Amino acid sequence: MLNSIYADNIIPLPREQIAGTHNCDVAIIGGGLTGVTAALHLAEHGYDVVLLEGGSIGSGGSGRNGGHLCQGWPNDFHHISKQLNPHDAALAWQAGIAAVDIVSTRIKKHKIDCDLQFGYLNAALHPGQMKALLEMQEEWSKRGYTHFTALEDSSALAPHINSTAYCGGLYDAGSGQIQPLKYLTGLALAARKAGAQIFEESHVTHIEKGATKTLHIDGGHQLNANKVLLCGNAYLSQIDLTQIGLPEMQSRLAKVTSSVLATKPLSENMVRHILPSRATVADCNTALNYFRIDRDNRMIFGGRASYTNINLGNVETDLRQRMCKVFPVLDIAETERVWSGQIGITVNRIPHFGRTDDDIYFVQGFSGHGVALTGLAGTILADAVMGDAERFDVMQSLRHLPFPGGIFRTPALALGMAWYKLRDRLKL
Ligand SMILES: Cc1cc2nc3c(=O)[nH]c(=O)nc-3n(C[C@H](O)[C@H](O)[C@H](O)COP(=O)(O)OP(=O)(O)OC[C@H]3O[C@@H](n4cnc5c(N)ncnc54)[C@H](O)[C@@H]3O)c2cc1C
Repeated sequence: MLNSIYADNIIPLPREQIAGTHNCDVAIIGGGLTGVTAALHLAEHGYDVVLLEGGSIGSGGSGRNGGHLCQGWPNDFHHISKQLNPHDAALAWQAGIAAVDIVSTRIKKHKIDCDLQFGYLNAALHPGQMKALLEMQEEWSKRGYTHFTALEDSSALAPHINSTAYCGGLYDAGSGQIQPLKYLTGLALAARKAGAQIFEESHVTHIEKGATKTLHIDGGHQLNANKVLLCGNAYLSQIDLTQIGLPEMQSRLAKVTSSVLATKPLSENMVRHILPSRATVADCNTALNYFRIDRDNRMIFGGRASYTNINLGNVETDLRQRMCKVFPVLDIAETERVWSGQIGITVNRIPHFGRTDDDIYFVQGFSGHGVALTGLAGTILADAVMGDAERFDVMQSLRHLPFPGGIFRTPALALGMAWYKLRDRLKL
C-alpha cells in the first residue's frame, strides 16, 4: 500500500517519540482524525492528554482516503431512529448533521488551509437508485435538511457532470471535499498548541487494566493513564481486545480494502468539460466509485472494494477502467499515484461506540463516512471523558450485530458483498 499523494503536499508535524515512563489523565491510541480531534477537544478544556501513534500522524485511513466530506450518517436514518425514543433519535440526527459543521468550524478557528470546497453529487446509475435518492431527500427534508436539489434527468445533471453513466442525482450543497492530511496535520498542530502531547512511532503493544492503566509501548516505554481512548479503527493493531474486556470490537468490525488513483493535473478545459461545477461525486452502488478534482486539477478517483483484502490484482488498470467508463476522455490522463487502505465497516453502517467499566472508551466503523464523522466521534468520546456522556450513551445504546461466519468471516463477507454487487449490476 503506497503512500497517498497527500503526504507530498504537507509540512509534517515536528516528530516527537515517547521515551521512558510518563503519566497523564487521558491516553489516546491512534493519530487519525478521531484521536487527534479528541486530543484537541480535551486539551482545549485543560485536560492532561497524551496521544500515541504507532506510525506517523495520518498513516491509517485518515491520510489515505478520498477526501469526501459527507453529511449525515452512512445509512438510512430509520436504522438508528427505530432503536431510540424520539428525544434520543432527535439527538442522534442532530449529531450526524453537525459533523460537517464541526469540520468547517475547526478549519476556520485554527486557520487550516486544507482546500475545503462544498458541492456534492450523489449520482444515480439507474432509475431504482434515483428513486432511492428522492426518498432520501424527502426523509431528510422532513427533518429540516434543506441543502438537497434533485436532478432528475441528464439535462439537470449537465451543469455538474458530463457523463452518460448517470441518469440523475441528488446535489448536496452541504457536503464537499477536503485534502484530509492537510486538515489532520492542522488539527494536530492545534492540539499541540493547546497542550496535548503527541508522540509518533510510539506503538502500544499491551494495556494493563485497573484504576490506573499502564500502556506498554514498543521499545520498553510506558504511559500511565486514568482513562484510555481507543481510536485505531480499521488500523488498530496488536492490542488484545479480549484481555481488555472488549471482544465485541473484533466481531463487530470488518475491514474492506479500497483504492484510489490520482491522475497528473488535468487542463482547466478538461476539468470544465467533465465536472463543470467541480462537484465531488459518488455513485450509489454498494462497491461505489467516488471521485473529485483536487486543488491542483488532479482527478482523485476511488473505488474497487476488496472484501477479502488479499490478491488486489492490478489496482491501477482496474481503477483506470472504472474512471474511463465514467469519462472516456480521461483515457489520455496519466496516472500520478495509486494507493490503497482499509475502511472499517459495521453491519448496519453506523459507528460502534462502547466502553469498559474501568474507563477504556472506543469508537470504530465509520463505514466510508469517516472524514466528517470522526470529528464528531472524537468530540463525543472527549465529552464523555469530561463527564458529559449524553450523546455517547445514545450512540452506545445502538445495537450492533457481529459479522456472520466466525473463522469463515472473510469468505462469508466476500460472498455477501458479491450478492450486493450482483444486485447493483442487475439494477435491482
Ligand atoms: C482508501 C480509502 C478511502 C476513503 N475515502 C473516504 C472518503 O472519501 N470520505 C470519508 O468520509 N471516509 C473515507 N474513508 C474512511 C476514513 O478515512 C476513515 O473512516 C477515517 O480516516 C478513520 O479515522 P480514524 O482516526 O478513526 O482512524 P485512522 O485514521 O485509521 O487512524 C488510526 C491510527 O491508529 C494507529 N494505531 C493503530 N493501532 C495502534 C497502536 N496499537 N498503537 C499506536 N497507534 C496505533 C494507526 O497507525 C493509525 O494511524 C476512506 C478510507 C480509505 C482507506
